Amino acid sequence: MTRLPVAPKHALGQHFLADPNILRVIERLAELEREDIVLEIGSGLGALTAFLASRVGLVYAVEIDRSLEPHLQAALAGQANVRLIFQDALSLDPSSLDPAPGKLVSNLPYNVAVPILLETIDRMPTIELWCVMVQREIADRLFARPGSKAYGAVSVLVQLAAERAGFHPVSREVFRPRPRVDSALVAFRRRPLPPRWPQVKALVEAAFSHRRKTLPNSLQQAGFCDRERAARALATLGRSPSLRAEELSPHDFLELARLLP
Ligand code: SAM
Repeated sequence: MTRLPVAPKHALGQHFLADPNILRVIERLAELEREDIVLEIGSGLGALTAFLASRVGLVYAVEIDRSLEPHLQAALAGQANVRLIFQDALSLDPSSLDPAPGKLVSNLPYNVAVPILLETIDRMPTIELWCVMVQREIADRLFARPGSKAYGAVSVLVQLAAERAGFHPVSREVFRPRPRVDSALVAFRRRPLPPRWPQVKALVEAAFSHRRKTLPNSLQQAGFCDRERAARALATLGRSPSLRAEELSPHDFLELARLLP
């Protein structure tokens, strides 16, 4: 474990990897190969970036905090296959990444982890494999089963767009500074997006926007469609109009999206 050369910024989720053993797990779950083009979001001090650069063809390293540049440059000295991009990853133009990345491998900042996953699913169709470190609670949400407490809009969307390829719990001890919660590495592989994906997404987000309400009430409240229409669609599927969003499986949402709005 090393001493940090910077004062970490809590608001940016700066918890830097301090245990090289985790890199081997990432290598395995991300199935790293020489010809890979990898997008890394949140490069921090470059521990993962340098490791990726030593294993793959090209790394796009995106980091919002420009004050880390000298440290990143030092960590990456001699690595010609890294393109450093100092920018908010959420405003990144995918077309600026040419050649396009095929994998996302990152220790994600906790506050934007979910939007980054959903954005890259939507806007970066060349990404076939994700291997991300996220808080354990987020990791559990991604592949949660219907009816469980962790099951929500992100579970439905990720499960419709991808299949789980790997999971590895990670102790908070491997980061500096030490976060208050444990983490996990999650890997998943893209599958073809279902038809009418933007409508499916809008339906799922509206369905979970008022978790304690029945599905028809939640959809109406979110301005997606009126409750009678939603109740009729559920009846067509042989389902009760009083069920809640968390009782529908990802496949149920696809069926419902064919009938609504
Ligand atoms: N990859 C490094 C490691 O594993 O040691 C750092 C990971 S740290 C959990 C997350 C990093 O994401 C921080 O360096 C933080 O500055 C950066 N970050 C936070 N929000 C970001 C954003 N919106 N776009 C790009 N980078 C961001």
